Amino acid sequence: MYKTPFQVTILGSSGAMPTSKRHTSAQLLKHGNKLFLLDCSEGTQIQLRRMKIPLMKINHIFISHFHGDHYLGLPGLLFTMHLLGRTNELNIYSPPGLKKIIKTHFDICNLETSYKIIFHEIDKDRQTIYEDTTLLVDSISMLHSIPTYGFLFREKPLKRNIKKGHIDKYNIPVNQILKIKAGGSYTTPNGKVLSNEELTIAPPPPRTYAFCSDTGYTESFTGQIEGADTLYHEATFMKEFSELASKKFHSTTTEAATLALKAKVKKLIIGHYSARYDDSELKSYLDEAKAVFTDTYIAEEGKRFDIG
Ligand SMILES: [Zn+2]
Ligand SMILES: [Zn+2]
Repeated sequence: MYKTPFQVTILGSSGAMPTSKRHTSAQLLKHGNKLFLLDCSEGTQIQLRRMKIPLMKINHIFISHFHGDHYLGLPGLLFTMHLLGRTNELNIYSPPGLKKIIKTHFDICNLETSYKIIFHEIDKDRQTIYEDTTLLVDSISMLHSIPTYGFLFREKPLKRNIKKGHIDKYNIPVNQILKIKAGGSYTTPNGKVLSNEELTIAPPPPRTYAFCSDTGYTESFTGQIEGADTLYHEATFMKEFSELASKKFHSTTTEAATLALKAKVKKLIIGHYSARYDDSELKSYLDEAKAVFTDTYIAEEGKRFDIG
């Protein structure tokens, strides 16, 4: 139904610190031939290499906040891009302060990168932070101990499609096709008016991906993510630690699932789980969320999910 691939690959699933098997927060979002990096924890560039993802094709990086488990891989990745002779501009979207951090790294070793980095500071009063011909990205304010944002990737609505065979059947000239796709009717040379409904079918609905990074349980952004095709929501703890979770501005499995239910999303991915949970406990971790929201999946390194 959809011609453009839209999928997210999990590069890191662990909360706060890595384990011998898990990396901290990072995801790669692919839309068509565009690659977006969401968070960039330690070792992200190694994960990209392992999964054969061409890191030089990433032109936009979104950093949710400046806790180490979400951005400490960034200097390394930026250095590698320089060593590989990158010339394309790189755009980084983050809370204010990143330019100072990165500039310090490069200034101390007296290095000028082979490419330009454009820093986009997220302003909580301006929601849309990125736009191209097919996609929009909005920031979402999280409830965390320092300024933290999630990111909502929204496809722009597609144009209507001309019904199969109708171009030949009615001999529609090429210069009329765009007009019809945009909603216009067509008048044949002998004066017959064919309505847009007769000629076209509706395109598949736009898809959305909501990446909700570190956050305590809050319903403040439920309206913004409502109906999302896929929601990634952190679930650092199982429900028995709900008090600890709220004290540390994190969420539990059941809280993430409750929000998915309230926001009427179609699919939920939970991750950023505490290093205290070993692999044998992850089934119970997932089951807790599934008891509230059936279509829940666990973020694990290398897993790929289709959006919509
Ligand atoms: Zn974190
Ligand atoms: Zn954090």
